[in-house]
Amino acid sequence: MTDRTSITDDDLRFDREHLWHPYTSMSAPLPVYPVESARGVRIKLASGEDLIDGMSSWWAAIHGYNHPRLNAAVTAQMADMSHVMFGGMTHKPAIELGRKLVELTPDGLEHVFFCDSGSVSVEVAIKMAAQFWQAQGRESKTKLLTIRSGYHGDTFQAMSVCDPVTGMHEIFRGVLPTHFFADMPQVKFHQPWDAADLASFEALITEHHDTIAAVILEPIVQGAGGMRFYHPAYLRGVRKLCDAHDVLLIADEIATGFGRSGVLFACNHAGISPDIMCLGKALTGGTMTMAATLASKKVAMGISAGEASGGLFMHGPTFMANPLACAAANASIDLLLSADWEERVLDLQHGLAVGLAPCNDIASVAEVRVLGAIGVVEMKEPVNVAALQREFVKRGVWIRPFGKLVYVMPPYIMEPDDVTVLTHAMAEVLRQV
Ligand SMILES: *Cc1c(COP(=O)(O)O)cnc(C)c1O
Repeated sequence: MTDRTSITDDDLRFDREHLWHPYTSMSAPLPVYPVESARGVRIKLASGEDLIDGMSSWWAAIHGYNHPRLNAAVTAQMADMSHVMFGGMTHKPAIELGRKLVELTPDGLEHVFFCDSGSVSVEVAIKMAAQFWQAQGRESKTKLLTIRSGYHGDTFQAMSVCDPVTGMHEIFRGVLPTHFFADMPQVKFHQPWDAADLASFEALITEHHDTIAAVILEPIVQGAGGMRFYHPAYLRGVRKLCDAHDVLLIADEIATGFGRSGVLFACNHAGISPDIMCLGKALTGGTMTMAATLASKKVAMGISAGEASGGLFMHGPTFMANPLACAAANASIDLLLSADWEERVLDLQHGLAVGLAPCNDIASVAEVRVLGAIGVVEMKEPVNVAALQREFVKRGVWIRPFGKLVYVMPPYIMEPDDVTVLTHAMAEVLRQV
């Protein structure tokens, strides 16, 4: 039997020559760091080093790694069944998770569709909007309106509403559906509101609402498209304009859901409810892949009244509502709510703000911003990812920058001393850029 964790040079050669990693070339791949295990906020490399994790594995591992309660939930579920089809069958873990999501999410989101990943939940949301208007006999409403600097995933419809520049739409010209893009919001989260910020959005929705099925955006925090935090009044304005023009609002909370921005869902900053909401990433506490799309009664009943579809919503993934994933999600949500998550996220906000403040004095830094458990240093120029990562690993921290953005969103359980190490490493390395 081969060793489960030890990685040989031959393994690494195979990885380099045969395995695609995210956004990399097969002929000139970026370096990868072999990981042996992970526990709490630490990732143990095969070389023996322990890295303090600044990424929560892309927003997901909010409780850290190898949490005994998440492990126990999955193990217990496995003893009953790892999976059964959701077509014509149901089970307690799914019912329990559905109850929790309906209860916790903003008012009015009462119908839950479980799916495999964030991008799929975005596809499902867009499909819901399309089927809704089709069922109302308004076939011309097929387009989407979004704001620049967004990120919604890597499948084709999701990609089509990512920022056209950072989402590299030119590579897929002719394949991607085309939608409407409003200017990205300029008024930042903590700045005084200026209603002029909505002008571009308002102009587009006013002119094109007859062809627009839905607005899709990331509420308050734009993640992988730019790591920007915009003003809650912008989101309230969008909600009002959607209502005034008969357009559905899809909130993509895949990155922000479950406390990351300081409130349970970023929509809560603005006190609004979307018609459709996407959840993913932290849903299972980083244990395994799962996502969900929630819809209002209006949307769900509207789709179900459609004649052409026979009232059916036309989606059904093989691993829909996978019991292991549901069990992990139930345990993760219980764990979150049983801990003082709000205080922990606010402590992280404070620790990140204090720790990253010195970056403001670095000449190559454009801006430092912090919201909830998210800390961002935007550089003036794109960084050398591989070189920066090498420096971070040398200092015992795991941070993966992209473009001009060097950012962290640590697990909520990170202790202040580790936050200090993480932010000091950022300041030290960026000072050398
Ligand atoms: C990560 C992300 C997605 C895509 O989720 P995947 O699970 O990677 O498919 C969609 N929207 C937002 C806001 C995200 O951060």
